[in-house]
Amino acid sequence: MSLVDQQTAAPVHTMRALTLVADRKIELLDVPAPLPPAAGEVQIGIKAIGLNHIDVWGWRGMAFAKRKLPLIVGAEAAGEIRAIGPGVSGFRVGDPVVAYGGLTCGTCKACREGRDNLCENVAGIMGFHVDGFARDLLNMPARLVIPMPAGISFRDAACAPVAFSTVQHMLFDNAKLEPGETILVQAGGSGIGTAAIKMAKAIGCTVIATVGDDEKAAKAKALGADHVINYRTDRFEGVVRKLTGKKGVDVVFEHVGPDTFNGSLLCLKRGGRLVTCGSTSGQSTTINLFQLYLQQYRIFGSFGASIRNIRESLDKMAAGLLPVIDTEVPLADFERGLARLESRQVFGKIIVLF
Ligand SMILES: [Zn+2]
Repeated sequence: MSLVDQQTAAPVHTMRALTLVADRKIELLDVPAPLPPAAGEVQIGIKAIGLNHIDVWGWRGMAFAKRKLPLIVGAEAAGEIRAIGPGVSGFRVGDPVVAYGGLTCGTCKACREGRDNLCENVAGIMGFHVDGFARDLLNMPARLVIPMPAGISFRDAACAPVAFSTVQHMLFDNAKLEPGETILVQAGGSGIGTAAIKMAKAIGCTVIATVGDDEKAAKAKALGADHVINYRTDRFEGVVRKLTGKKGVDVVFEHVGPDTFNGSLLCLKRGGRLVTCGSTSGQSTTINLFQLYLQQYRIFGSFGASIRNIRESLDKMAAGLLPVIDTEVPLADFERGLARLESRQVFGKIIVLF
C-alpha cells in the first residue's frame, strides 16, 4: 500500500501498525514503512507479537511514566531478518529472530556486565515509551537482536523477550530457585504464572499455584502444579501452611500486589525469598518489619530481563519447555485478542500473528 507525499508527490510506502491512539484505544493504522537499515542495524519483518497488559494499560500506578500518543504497541515479538545494514555481521536475510525491547546504551557498566535491565542510559522501552513491535517492519540495532534456535515457532518465540525472560530472571537470577525447593506461584493462570509453573517443575520443584476459578485450577494442574488453590474460595495462606506442614515455602513468585503481598510473606519459611515483578492490584501496602527481619525474609524487586535471559528462554523452548498459548488471532482480528486479554478467563498468552 502507498500514500502520496504532499511535498514531493512521490509515493510513500506504508505498512500496518497496531497503534494506541488514546487511553485504552488501539487501532490498526497505515504508517510510513522504515527506510533501509542504517549502519549497525537490521530490518526485521514481524511475524508474531505477544500481547501484554502494558499494551493496553501501561503499568498501572506508574503515573510518572507518561506515554506520548499515538504509540505503536507491542513489547515482545518474533520475526525474520529482511535487510542488513552496513557493518553488521552474523545475520542473513531470512534468519528467524527476536529482539530486546529496552533501548540500552550498550556501553555503561551495567550493559558491559550483561545486566541490560540495569542500563544507566536506557533511551526507552519499546511498546511503552517509544514505538513497539506491532508493525510489519522495523529497524533495530543488531546488538539487540537474538537469533532463534531451530525448531521454535514464531508464535512461541514471541513470548521469549518479555513473558519467559522476565520469569527466567525472577526465578533463577534473583530468587535463585533450586531443584527440590517449594514455590508458591501467585496468579498461576497468567502468561508469566504459567511460565513460572513450567520452569519450576522442569527443575524438580514442588509447585503450589493460586488461581481464580476451578476451570483454571484444572489447567494449572495439567501444567504440572502439585497443588492448586482457588483464592476466591480458600484463604491461600492457610492452605499453604497446611500443605507445607506449617514450615512455609522457599520462594514466592509475586506480581499481584497489595491484595496478596502480606499473605505471600506469611507463606514463606524462615529465610525464604519473595520475588515480585508487578503490582496489578495497586501501588502500596504496609508490611510488618518485625516479621521481615525476625524471619530473615529476602524480597527481590525484578523488572525485565537481560539479553542472556532471552537466550536462556529460547534454549528452554528449543528443549521442549513451551509457553502456554491461550489464543492466537490474525492481525485483522486483534480486537478479539485484546478482549480476551482483558477477560477473566484468559489462561496463558495471547498472540497476534502478522
Ligand atoms: Zn547501558
